[in-house]
Amino acid sequence: MKVKCPTCKKWNEWQNNPFRPFCSERCKLIDLGAWASEEYKIEGKLSDEGSQVSLEKENENA
Ligand SMILES: [Zn+2]
Repeated sequence: MKVKCPTCKKWNEWQNNPFRPFCSERCKLIDLGAWASEEYKIEGKLSDEGSQVSLEKENENA
């Protein structure tokens, strides 16, 4: 089974891959970093515009 690395979009083996779904530790760390910066953006929005309502709507759809 193969999965697509969310960071670099390369296909890589799922089995025996400690970094799955990423192809490598590097891609995993890059994605975690992206997540962290996204969260900071959302937190900033919440305090500025109070967009928590739209976030909850997204969760309902998912
Ligand atoms: Zn990758």
